[in-house]
Amino acid sequence: MLKKLFLLICISLLLPLGKVYGEYDEHLIYKEFDPQTVYGQYDPQAVYKERMALYKEMEAISFVPWEYYAAVDQYERNVRAVRRDIPKKENGVISIYFKPEIWSGLINPNTNDKNPYTIGLFGGIGLDGDGDGYADQTNDRDVLYTMATILSHFGNDRDHIKIMLWEHYKRAKTVEIITGFARMYKHYGRIDIEGNAFPMPIYSTHSYRSTFGARRSFGGRRMHEGTDIFAGYGVPVRATCYGIIELKGWNRLGGWRIGIRDLQNNYHYYAHLGGFSKEVQVGQIVEPGKVIGFVGSTGYGPPGTSGKFPPHLHYGMYKDNGYTEWAYDPYIHLANWERQERLQKRK
Ligand SMILES: [Zn+2]
Repeated sequence: MLKKLFLLICISLLLPLGKVYGEYDEHLIYKEFDPQTVYGQYDPQAVYKERMALYKEMEAISFVPWEYYAAVDQYERNVRAVRRDIPKKENGVISIYFKPEIWSGLINPNTNDKNPYTIGLFGGIGLDGDGDGYADQTNDRDVLYTMATILSHFGNDRDHIKIMLWEHYKRAKTVEIITGFARMYKHYGRIDIEGNAFPMPIYSTHSYRSTFGARRSFGGRRMHEGTDIFAGYGVPVRATCYGIIELKGWNRLGGWRIGIRDLQNNYHYYAHLGGFSKEVQVGQIVEPGKVIGFVGSTGYGPPGTSGKFPPHLHYGMYKDNGYTEWAYDPYIHLANWERQERLQKRK
């Protein structure tokens, strides 16, 4: 009898353990490594389709153009991917996140409240978007409908949506990024905008290695935030991504430079250019491979300074997480884009 009891206790103790490890393993397989496994189970085109249907559905209800839902959702997806204070959402279609206390109301004792009446009573913003009687923070339609109500508070034209974006996010850069995304989605009329290119024609003569973090002497002690791609004067410099030109002009260190913001909250920085392509303007939407300028050796002095170092493209990548922006090593991306393009050309 005692033996049996002991066994039972052992089994009951082991069961939850097994469950925990089982879940952990699944996450490992799904989230990390082996892209084949991940993409085998996860059909990106199907997810894009489902997302687009939800955005259009919300547009019909709220009269807020679908591209704003797409833009807010994409921005929050990017932020979620790099932030630890926001819970991850496995297999999520919509990534928009409201803090539980904001959803339920700051003084609501139940931060997971799904009752629209008590949520309203405690000043929460959560709403029931699919008409099932619950305002559920994990329900995509409820989340989108709540966002719709926020965005259309003053009206559903661009300027009024912008005001509400500011009210909600309280950060000028975030508003700029989201309205940029919206413009891109509207321009292409779709959300499956993917693809990259190497910043120079792959058959041009160029060389680069990982130099991120190396010390620099000019302009005080600072880190080298990027990769230098050495090439001859005049070699075309191309956009590496779909994005919007955010900056173009002279800087004492960077010389003639261009900044492009992509749909993954990355800012791509191209410096020491010999010059720009004629038609390239701030605010312009660009595509991978679009020529934006050419290799030079400008910088390290007043406008026009050139030749203080060998010609090269300084390429930097910065990530925005909704609070701040930081530089990271672009080397792996560069090598990957180059390899991808070589493979495509061979086909
Ligand atoms: Zn550099």
